[in-house]
Amino acid sequence: MTDIAGNLKNVRARLEAACRRAGRPPDAVTLLCVSKKMPPEALEAAFGAQERHFGENYAQELRDKAERLQGLSGLHFHFIGPLQTNKARYVARWAWAFHALDRLEVAQELSRRREGEPLRCFVEVNLAGEDSKAGVSEAGLGAFLDSVRALPGLQVVGLMALPPLQENPEANRPHFRHLAQLAQKHGLSELSMGTTSDFEVAIEEGATVVRVGTAIFGERPPPGKKP
Ligand SMILES: *Cc1c(COP(=O)(O)O)cnc(C)c1O
Repeated sequence: MTDIAGNLKNVRARLEAACRRAGRPPDAVTLLCVSKKMPPEALEAAFGAQERHFGENYAQELRDKAERLQGLSGLHFHFIGPLQTNKARYVARWAWAFHALDRLEVAQELSRRREGEPLRCFVEVNLAGEDSKAGVSEAGLGAFLDSVRALPGLQVVGLMALPPLQENPEANRPHFRHLAQLAQKHGLSELSMGTTSDFEVAIEEGATVVRVGTAIFGERPPPGKKP
């Protein structure tokens, strides 16, 4: 069995050390525990170790886990995966934040369906300009933000990026730095960036949310397998 509490201790120590290096208070960074494909018991274990923020990638899996874990008060789900319009209702209903907003139709559907407090949204930016990758292009970012900011039920809080997976975490430093500059330019205070392989570098470059899965929960089951 994965020692989730032990892994969390280790990740938190690394997170705090990165904050110290960057001269930032440790509570400036939210640890988002990426629990996709992990069973509800894994989230319960992390919740028991004081974690409150969980990241999910699949809309139905979000719904199932959120229904099942409704009793855990203060637990917040963040949806971090690509979202199709026809699944937006699950995110509108169950998510506290959405990190991968990159299409206006999805924003409109979330806006229509959201009840209660606004859904915190991070706009995903395609930093490397890769055709195959999700995210709004830099050139289109200003206009996209204007459109989304006009929608009720959504609150744009920051930018998100998922730079290429690299052997050397330093290789993503320029991407992180660039995302921070873009956020500042557009008046956004939150930055969702950094995963297991590079979250410390992301913190040094200003991340306010780091999305860490494998270092907390261990390796995920292979694609296609249900949790
Ligand atoms: C799965 C995932 C993560 C977590 O990746 P790890 O390498 O397991 O830390 C972070 N962000 C997004 C968007 C993901 O899909």
